[in-house]
Amino acid sequence: MLLIKNGWIITCDNSKNEFKQGNLIIQDGVIREITMGEVSGQERFDKVIDAAGKFVMPGLINAHTHSYANMVKATTENIPLEIWMLYIMAQGKCMDPEDVYYNALLGSIEMIKTGTTSCVDHLAQSLEGLEAALQAYYDIGMRAALAPMISDKSYFETLPIKNSEIPEEFKENTNPSVESLMNTNITLLNKWHGKGERLGIMFGPSGPQRCSDELLIQCSKLAEEYDTGIHSHILETKIQADTALHLYGKPMLIHLDELGCLNERWSLVHSVWLTREEAEIAAHRGAVIVHNPASNLILGSGIAPVNMYRNLGLTVALGTDGANCGGNLNMFEAIKLAAMMHKFSEANPEKWVTAKEALKMATLNGAKVSLQDKKIGSLEVGKRADVVILNPEKSPALLPIQKPIWQIVYAESGAAVETVLIQGKVVLEDGKILTIDEKKVYNEVNGRADRINEKFLSFQENVKKQESFLQKALF
Ligand SMILES: [Zn+2]
Repeated sequence: MLLIKNGWIITCDNSKNEFKQGNLIIQDGVIREITMGEVSGQERFDKVIDAAGKFVMPGLINAHTHSYANMVKATTENIPLEIWMLYIMAQGKCMDPEDVYYNALLGSIEMIKTGTTSCVDHLAQSLEGLEAALQAYYDIGMRAALAPMISDKSYFETLPIKNSEIPEEFKENTNPSVESLMNTNITLLNKWHGKGERLGIMFGPSGPQRCSDELLIQCSKLAEEYDTGIHSHILETKIQADTALHLYGKPMLIHLDELGCLNERWSLVHSVWLTREEAEIAAHRGAVIVHNPASNLILGSGIAPVNMYRNLGLTVALGTDGANCGGNLNMFEAIKLAAMMHKFSEANPEKWVTAKEALKMATLNGAKVSLQDKKIGSLEVGKRADVVILNPEKSPALLPIQKPIWQIVYAESGAAVETVLIQGKVVLEDGKILTIDEKKVYNEVNGRADRINEKFLSFQENVKKQESFLQKALF
């Protein structure tokens, strides 16, 4: 049994309680009691953490990231998504399962150190690679939902370009079958879903335009059968909205809805270019929007109409996206951006995103993406103990303490993160990861990144050729 005492507890539950001098009692990975004042019989606890003068809050949830990206960050600059994809698809081919393992560990260390206890990893890899990532999350003690990123079309077919205009050499004939993709997902579900009460498996179509209708229908059907979520990029760029018209003759979500796929299991990642009609459909079906502000700004994709989504009652969660397009995996940055960047588009300040709402996007709303909002996302009795303790003395921007939530949203960088518990287990203490050897991971990733960059050179000429074709065809 573990006690966190005397902390300024920020529950982030629906009643949005704050207790100035509160205690959390944790047993078997679960929050058993939340009390105020003195706790008697402290000798019965295996561990007591004194959080006096510190904030105690639920772990942040990064509702969209790609672990493969951690070792290829900072390899491109100022290129739009459609061209950027050429680079990352080639880079993905340069990684072996061990690289994937260290990718996921590196990302986990960064996330835990900045207060994130749970992520959704949208990862395209072989079965072996996907299992390597899951093993990494298991080893470090992170909570993660893995959504294998799948597609059964060749890349150039998923752009608004006439088939006759696509050079033959760019067409691939190696697309996987729906059956093989679903078999991989089912293998992972049977082996990993629920493992350690921390790991989960979702379905992860890369984007509807990158999948046959049959694949989308199968994902929907099996997600229902296995009671899990579906995670997909949706209308990240204007070109993708054009692609929907090119492929289906109608907007993307209208097509998806007509297939009978769209429901509350879906998380619609980015959703920058939804029309109002599409947003209404998403709201009606109960899907969740995953907003990735940093990535959308760095790739120049646009600004998601978050105020429209809020007005329609849609749940908005937050993600960093991959470190190669979002810059880092720091959810405090995502929270701050989400709180700030939509004020300009709403004339009435009473309707602006509040600090509390921005924090909820990164906690309880994030939990909805992996259908776990009954288990995580807030500090409530009966919920899993994913807890972050912030020490304002480590981050002077939080001092003097006035309104903790406002200060966490607009002033915190992650520097105050002192202790992190996931599933009731302390994984970070006094800023140090306890579960794995951090230094070993750092040493590994430098060497591995060099090797990946070297391997990429054999793809470079082809990537450049494709880039110049797309530059003319799309921009
Ligand atoms: Zn993404």
